[in-house]
Amino acid sequence: MVVAKIPTSLPLSSSILIRKWTRKCTKNLISAPNFLVFSYLDFLDSVLCVVYKYLDLLMEGEASPCYCRSKNKSDIIKGCYGNRPGDEDEGTGISETLYGRQKKLKEMIDLIEFVEKLLNKTKVFDAGYGDFKDKKKVGFNRLGNRWSDCGCDSCISWMKVDDPKLHVVVNEASSKAMGEHSNENVIFIHGILSSSSFWTKTLFPKLSESAKGDNYNMFAVDLLGHGKSPKPRDNLYTLKDHVEWIEKSVVSEFGSNSFHLVAHSMGSIIALALAAKHSKSVKSITLVAPPYFPSKDGVEFTVMNTLTPKRLWPPEAFLSSVMTWYEHLSRSVCFVLCRNHRTWEPLFKRLTGAREVNFMFMDMMKITHHSGWHTTHNVLYRGVKQMDRNLEMLMKLRKKVHVLMGTGDKSVPPDCGNQMKNKFPEVEVNNIPDAGHRSVVFNRENVVAQDLFRIWENSTSH
Ligand SMILES: [Zn+2]
Ligand SMILES: [Zn+2]
Repeated sequence: MVVAKIPTSLPLSSSILIRKWTRKCTKNLISAPNFLVFSYLDFLDSVLCVVYKYLDLLMEGEASPCYCRSKNKSDIIKGCYGNRPGDEDEGTGISETLYGRQKKLKEMIDLIEFVEKLLNKTKVFDAGYGDFKDKKKVGFNRLGNRWSDCGCDSCISWMKVDDPKLHVVVNEASSKAMGEHSNENVIFIHGILSSSSFWTKTLFPKLSESAKGDNYNMFAVDLLGHGKSPKPRDNLYTLKDHVEWIEKSVVSEFGSNSFHLVAHSMGSIIALALAAKHSKSVKSITLVAPPYFPSKDGVEFTVMNTLTPKRLWPPEAFLSSVMTWYEHLSRSVCFVLCRNHRTWEPLFKRLTGAREVNFMFMDMMKITHHSGWHTTHNVLYRGVKQMDRNLEMLMKLRKKVHVLMGTGDKSVPPDCGNQMKNKFPEVEVNNIPDAGHRSVVFNRENVVAQDLFRIWENSTSH
């Protein structure tokens, strides 16, 4: 019996070996173009780092900071804001993804340093985000918009105002004057690379159509750095910054001491932070397609690798990997698209024959590279880490959180809602079959409007 076992076990183990080897080879064959293309992009980004520093120096007299060889985090936050109260418990709010990206690129960084030494320009290339404070002294703000950003009226009008606020679209309750107690307030927050149009062009007409809509004051904000809102350069667009700008532009501005929140995608991270901070005022929170990942160390990279992995296909996935992994390449994309958004609109109309260009397409181009880059890293990747803490607090106070999630969502994993419910069973999750990241609202506006009225009415009667 023993003799019989030996010959059968040998071919078995070798067949497993062959299978493993074939699988490894196939995997390598598939990942080879990925590796080649992204290695080339790594190289290109390093070259652009030097190119942009020269161009900035030429156009503005000083090099813009970048994260290629950044200093440590505490220097950066101090440099940008000074010592802020409350930073200790929240951390700096700056994402590890802004630094860790470059860990693998040691050779590239050595190359940049070699080129700089060769050019003997090391001194002028010293700019880091830690220098913000000094820049304020020398009038960094006076620089206004960066030469590579759009300077059209709608993009820079906020600079002419003393105390700029976010752009807010207000849909007043028609039943009674604003501020009266019988009226409810609802604040709508959009996701990354979007604007208030996400709500005002889709859901607002349906909400207003209904007689129930007469009792609600609706506020849709353009987040900091998005749409028609200010896009300051001396700001790192952390979760805390976004919350503070909404506070001063909506909560204080309109004296809303009680409100409901509705948020889409990345806006959900901001909505939860705002709700936790104003827990006494918030009446209900509705999150549409929230990117939820259980909080733990290194979650920033998990989010980055899950939402925007380095992929060549499909083209949207490739574009988002370029925009999130490469600081200087993404600046070049913004230079072509965002700086020239006024040129693209008529061109696009002529090419497609459409009477109006899709507002989502236009919204995507109404950011600056600085605002889009930092919001992606510091809110979408880093802010996810705060969600558990904020949800815990809201659950303790028995606040109602509702989630609408499309099972066909390709931007955010569709099980994010269920994951949230696993950890916080009181969260009400509504999985919509086959709905996508945006189509969970678009084309379903009537149903969503009825859902919202039900949520708002229930939370008020409690
Ligand atoms: Zn750089
Ligand atoms: Zn513009």
